[in-house]
Amino acid sequence: MEDAGYVCHFDPEQPKAPILVINTCGFIGDAKEESINTILANALRKKAKTHRLERLYVMGCLSERYKKELPDEIPEVDGWFGKFDYMGIIEELENGEDLGCQSIERHITTPSHYAYLKISEGCNRMCSYCAIPLITGRHVSRPMEELIREAEWLRDQGVKELNVIAQDLSSYGLDLYKEHKLPELVERLAGIEGIRWIRLHYAYPTDFPEELLDVMARHDNVCKYLDIALQHCTTHMLKKMRRHINREEQDALIKRIRERVPGICLRTTLMVGHPGETEEDFEELKHWVREMRFDRMGAFAYSDEEGTYASRHYPDDISDEVKQRRLSELMAIQQDISAELMAEKVGKKLEVVIDRKEDDLWIGRTEFDSPEVDCEVLIEDAKELQIGEFYTVIITKAEEFDLHGKVC
Ligand code: SF4
Repeated sequence: MEDAGYVCHFDPEQPKAPILVINTCGFIGDAKEESINTILANALRKKAKTHRLERLYVMGCLSERYKKELPDEIPEVDGWFGKFDYMGIIEELENGEDLGCQSIERHITTPSHYAYLKISEGCNRMCSYCAIPLITGRHVSRPMEELIREAEWLRDQGVKELNVIAQDLSSYGLDLYKEHKLPELVERLAGIEGIRWIRLHYAYPTDFPEELLDVMARHDNVCKYLDIALQHCTTHMLKKMRRHINREEQDALIKRIRERVPGICLRTTLMVGHPGETEEDFEELKHWVREMRFDRMGAFAYSDEEGTYASRHYPDDISDEVKQRRLSELMAIQQDISAELMAEKVGKKLEVVIDRKEDDLWIGRTEFDSPEVDCEVLIEDAKELQIGEFYTVIITKAEEFDLHGKVC
C-alpha cells in the first residue's frame, strides 16, 4: 500500500484513518469470536458516521475461510480478502487498476528493536482439530538465502531480537531442500552480527530436528527458549488428535531437550475437551503438567471446526461446561507452577531488554520471555533507560506472571 502511495498506520486500539483494513485470525472459536467482534465494532463506527471511517476491509484467515458466508452477515464491510490477497485490496482501492506494485518491502509494526521472521507458511501435519492447513495450505519453506537477507535488513533497521516463527518450525526445509534445515538456518542467523536474541516459536514434536539443540546450546544469542506445542500427554488422546507421537516418545523428547540445552525455558500449548477425552485422560494430563513443570503454558478448550478431521469423524461429545471446568483446573495448576518458578528468580541477575515505559515503570523482558505472550520485568526508580537496549537487572520481587527488578 505504501508503494501505491498510501500512508499506513498500524493502530489496533484507536484507528483514526478513513480506510481501515482488519487482519483476522480464524483457526479456533475464541480467535474467530475476537475477529468478528473487532469487525462488528468497526462496522458500527462506520454506520454511525461519527468517525472518519469511510471504507472497511477485512483480510486474513477468517476472511479466507468464510469468504462466502461473511459478506451477507456483515454488509457494512466493503470488501473481504484472503490471507495472501494483498494486491486485491490495492486493486479495490484503485477501482480495479493494477498498479504493478512488485517489490513488497516489509513494514515493521512491532517496536523497532524486535521483529518476527516467518520462515515458512502452511502445515502438512493435519492434526485432527486444526483448521490451519485448510486455511493456509501445505507447508512451504522460504528459501534460506532470502531469510538471511531479510534478517540482515531487519538488523540494519535496528532490530536486535528475531522471533523466528512458522506454523511448523520442525519441518523447515523438507519441501525445498528435501532435508531438515532448521539447525543450519538458526546457525546462520546466529552468525549475523548485531542480532542479540533469536527466539523459536512453534516447533512440532514428531520429527523434531534435534541437531537444533546443539546449535541452541552453542550460541549465546539463541535464546534458551523453545515454544513447542504438545497438546496432550496420554497416548490415547495423542492418537485421537493425530499427533503421530506417543506418551513415551514425547516425554523422552522433553527430557533430551532439557538435558542438551540446560536451563531452557519451555513453552507449550495444551488442549482440553477434544472429543474422546475421558476424566482419566484429564486427570493424567493434570498429573503430567505438575510433573513436567513447563515454564510457560497456554491451554485451549476444543472447538469443533468444520472441515477438520475431528469435525468429520468425531462427535463433539464434551459439554462446554466440562471443557471450561477442565481449562480452569489446568490453568490453576500452571498458575501455581509459574509462581514457584518465578519466585526462584528473585535475587538473580538477568539480562533484560526494555520494551516500553508506562508512567514511572520501565517494562522489559528476559531471554525467557517472548513479546506479548510471556512475563515482563517491571523496573522502578531506574535512571533514564533506553527502549530497545539491554541491561543487567537484579530481580527483587516475583509475582505469578511478572517480575520486579532494579538495574545493576
Ligand atoms: S502442527 Fe499445528 S498448525 Fe499444523 S495441523 Fe497441527 S496444530 Fe495445526
